[in-house]
Amino acid sequence: MCAIKGTVDILANPIEYLKGVGPQRADLLKKELNIFYFKDLLELVPYRHIDKTKVNQVRDITPQTDFIQIAGKLISTGLMGEKRGKRLVAELRDGTGTIQLVWFQGINWIQKSLAIGQTYLVYGKVSFFQGTPQITHPELETFTREKLEGKSTLEPIYPSTEKLKSRGMGGKQIGAFTETLIKLLQERNIPEILPESVMQPLQLMPRFKAFVNMHFPPDLETWQQAINRLKFEEFFIAQIRMGLLRQQRHRYSKGIVFGQVGEIFNTFYEKYLPFELTGAQKRVIKEIRRDTGSGKQMNRLLQGDVGSGKTIVALLVLLLAIDNGYQGCLLAPTEILTQQHFNSISKLLKELPVNVRVLTGSTKTKERKEILQGLEEGTIQFVVGTHAILEDTVKFKNLGLAIIDEQHRFGVAQRAKLWSKGAIPPHVLVMTATPIPRTLAMTAYGDLDTSIIDELPPNRKPILTVHRYETVRSQVMDFIKAEITKGRQAYIVFPLIEESEKLDYENLMKGYENVQAYFPEPKYWISMVHGQQTQEVRNNNMHRFKTGDTQIMVGTTVIEVGVDVPNASVMVIENAEKFGLSQLHQLRGRVGRGSEKSFCILLSGSKLNNDARERLNTMCATNDGFKIAEKDLELRGPGDIEGTRQSGALNFKLASIVQDRKWLEIARETAERVLDDDPDLASAPNLQLKNYLQSLQGKTAWSKIS
Ligand code: ADP
Ligand code: MG
Repeated sequence: MCAIKGTVDILANPIEYLKGVGPQRADLLKKELNIFYFKDLLELVPYRHIDKTKVNQVRDITPQTDFIQIAGKLISTGLMGEKRGKRLVAELRDGTGTIQLVWFQGINWIQKSLAIGQTYLVYGKVSFFQGTPQITHPELETFTREKLEGKSTLEPIYPSTEKLKSRGMGGKQIGAFTETLIKLLQERNIPEILPESVMQPLQLMPRFKAFVNMHFPPDLETWQQAINRLKFEEFFIAQIRMGLLRQQRHRYSKGIVFGQVGEIFNTFYEKYLPFELTGAQKRVIKEIRRDTGSGKQMNRLLQGDVGSGKTIVALLVLLLAIDNGYQGCLLAPTEILTQQHFNSISKLLKELPVNVRVLTGSTKTKERKEILQGLEEGTIQFVVGTHAILEDTVKFKNLGLAIIDEQHRFGVAQRAKLWSKGAIPPHVLVMTATPIPRTLAMTAYGDLDTSIIDELPPNRKPILTVHRYETVRSQVMDFIKAEITKGRQAYIVFPLIEESEKLDYENLMKGYENVQAYFPEPKYWISMVHGQQTQEVRNNNMHRFKTGDTQIMVGTTVIEVGVDVPNASVMVIENAEKFGLSQLHQLRGRVGRGSEKSFCILLSGSKLNNDARERLNTMCATNDGFKIAEKDLELRGPGDIEGTRQSGALNFKLASIVQDRKWLEIARETAERVLDDDPDLASAPNLQLKNYLQSLQGKTAWSKIS
């Protein structure tokens, strides 16, 4: 807790000091709801409100009516049904009609306590039974005028737990605490933090009012305005902090300067580049050149769909580093991918004076020693490797550029480790495996500058994707046979779910035998790769498929990322319903890399839940990775998107980057405008914002992202 100097910060009080709470209840509130201080209670969000400010009329009830409050005379009670269907039904009449009240429990006691002819005030959720509106288990009290007066606000209902409920602190009772708290507070306890230049154009509710109305609004409209204000604030503060980080790096971080395009880059570009770059690739290289020439450290996210050609961009930028006398490294998430990058890069650079080496966990001791020495002395200019590169024993003479491929497997902490590898931190380029939804890019990666390759290399034939049930597997096999006859190759992928590794393995073996039965040797040869093989066996199998010795590759998702065999034209995914969307898209991206028409066949069981069906339908409907990423986020929510959970950047209390993306966009634009006008937040109107940001320092993971 950080009290602002000169004021007593009432919100910093421990929760036990709130009237009515006390030490025992406080213990429970801490354990069950993480409420330690007044402030935590203030920030507890009601999950709904009930409106007892108005009395509704029976006449106005429609099938759309949700919760209502009715005042009426009790005209009858009676027991209906038998055994488990036994219930007490009462009729309540106001001036406009009659409604039924129904109880299934506590029947006898309730019947005794009800008085015919008495006027009651009832509240509850309306349902219809055989055309008659009724309220089951209504809240009920005898009606008096005074009870209605004084109820000028909606009543908040809070999230609670079984334990709290059993101790008399259900979702409603917690409202008594918030009510006590709100009554204690004055505007100066929750001062405004947003400048007028932000508040005014967006017509935002002041901060104090927003908190009051989040709990006790006079009506739902006001509640919505309060919530909007608080959601905006959450996004805005996050965006300002990211913006400050970005800006700080642009302004103050010293960066290595790649001042010239040199001999190696030019020779490669003119003589050995195997194809013409796409417009998008050229643009991205320009963006990177501008960054790396600016004297500031680059921290850039490169997004592009599967197959959009990120690797060649990486290579060209690495050559730029080498031309300027610096070393470069390329980090990949798996050994297979590392090896593959190394092979293709060494081939491309064969005629050029660049010493490239590969370093992974399985590099032999002797070779490893030699590589470490070469990196430290600077005789090796370029190393491709797995996270083995991050180990402390790996030292560079002058690392100028680190490129991380398929970022989602690298944590933020690993990214940070690269910083320490040079006196001046190297430029960092992070390449994603598949596109990231815009909202995620703005939040989880909001401190990075972004480049997007939004164009595929020419002559790509779109991949035809279909969904088939397992019952027609033999037809699918026949189809593969026909493709192989045409000289093509095929992948067949089985799911791998870590918790049941053994089962998956058996599943894979069964599948393999099955495939073998369709494709007997020596007419056909099959490669198999999975996580339980030694590196050597796995590489060997990969290699045989790559060179065309085998026509079929059976494997788990170890082939998921990055593998490049342009001759492969069929991707069969077994149990496709078990895969997430981005994984399916990534797998599909293994085909369609050559000029032949390619196919992706999603096999599934016949029982599919709605989400699975939607995933498969999405895959069949589009090849666009950006669209798929949005759908993925929508279906799974941000917490489940790989690599984002630990970042802390998505821990919004109120706002959701899925539902509230409109506010996120507004917050982003507003934050940019504020920082453009006043980069240091030094002007008087921004002072309160600056103070607030300083009070947050170190409290969230954002500050650690870069
Ligand atoms: P990803 O972005 O998925 O990493 P890759 O870099 O592996 O994609 O490129 C996919 C394939 O496209 C590779 O075979 C690569 O050689 C090829 N490629 C990349 N850029 C071009 C281009 N401009 N023209 C033609 N082929 C290209
Ligand atoms: Mg790649």
